[in-house]
Amino acid sequence: MNTEYTVDPSRLVSPDAAPQDAEEVTLRPKTLDDYVGQEKAKANLRIYLRAAQQRGEPMDHILLYGPPGLGKTTLAGIVAQEMGVQIRVTSGPAIEKPGDLAALLTNLQEGDILFIDEIHRLSRQVEEVLYPALEDYALDIMIGKGPSAQSIRINLPHFTLVGATTRAGQLTGPLRDRFGILLKLEPYSPDELARIIMRSAGILGVPIDYEGALELAKCARGTPRVANRLLKRVRDFATVQGDGSIDGPTAVAARRQMDIDEAGLDELDRSVLRAIIELYGGGPVGLDTLAANLGEEAVTLEDVCEPYLMQLGMLTRTPRGRCVTKLAYEHLGLPVPRHLRAEDEDENQQSMY
Ligand code: ADP
Repeated sequence: MNTEYTVDPSRLVSPDAAPQDAEEVTLRPKTLDDYVGQEKAKANLRIYLRAAQQRGEPMDHILLYGPPGLGKTTLAGIVAQEMGVQIRVTSGPAIEKPGDLAALLTNLQEGDILFIDEIHRLSRQVEEVLYPALEDYALDIMIGKGPSAQSIRINLPHFTLVGATTRAGQLTGPLRDRFGILLKLEPYSPDELARIIMRSAGILGVPIDYEGALELAKCARGTPRVANRLLKRVRDFATVQGDGSIDGPTAVAARRQMDIDEAGLDELDRSVLRAIIELYGGGPVGLDTLAANLGEEAVTLEDVCEPYLMQLGMLTRTPRGRCVTKLAYEHLGLPVPRHLRAEDEDENQQSMY
């Protein structure tokens, strides 16, 4: 979840959690075996879990980082399930004062997991309280004011903090250093997303074949949350316009009706590319200028559209501004300008030597 920018929550391909995702809880895998993909993170986590279980100790503190909707909250729940402990879920902006954190910590039981989403948004004062809690399982509380003020130490149960962040770079050094386990989540491949869609369809009771699942997976932007959302929308089309089941052609037809193209771009993504091409000859153009032209917040473009367009290789960020690549022209069916074609020819010639 990320609420730093003003994204239209109803945007189908937005990776941020939206009110219509309330059903997500039923789709969340409960065990590591059910958690599709992220093989590297999973393999490491299995070892850490087994080691902690064998020693009969709580897990070390874990930091999960990666873009929204990739399964950080889900993974925290799985760790709790596998360790047989309770999980308390909160987020950085929800813990406003040191007292809020103290109340959360003193209510934990031995071994419990405290999950803090968007941990990079904790205030400095709250972070200061967290340090001794993570290191010594203790809270230092000041009683009274002025010269008679006294600091007393309250011991806490041994708990595990699972922090999640979309921006590992924004975490302060001292906080990052207190996590023993760092796990990075990567975007999912179309095959992994297709497996997630098949699993979710099974839970929702929607008949779907692999071809249909793969068609949806290809435009899910590497994100399970988007994949599940597409499945639910396409289910509506299949129910009303077909026999309720989803195959390749049904998925393609529904996707077209939702204005999402075969690369997973929606109207906003395409308008970003078109604006750079039509108004700025392909770039470079500064982010703020571009945002003003489109009537969007700069941070929306930066956090929501650009990462995926860059991942597809259609957009580049240069010191002078944003530029589109040859792929963007090709994707929109526009003639590729000579300077981009020339770059290609140069590369070909260089590779001949
Ligand atoms: P994050 O906390 O990273 O924003 P979530 O853990 O809330 O993401 O995941 C969003 C949705 O995607 C969940 O409902 C879950 O069902 C689904 N999901 C995420 N990762 C996986 C996975 N590896 N396998 C199956 N479903 C997943």
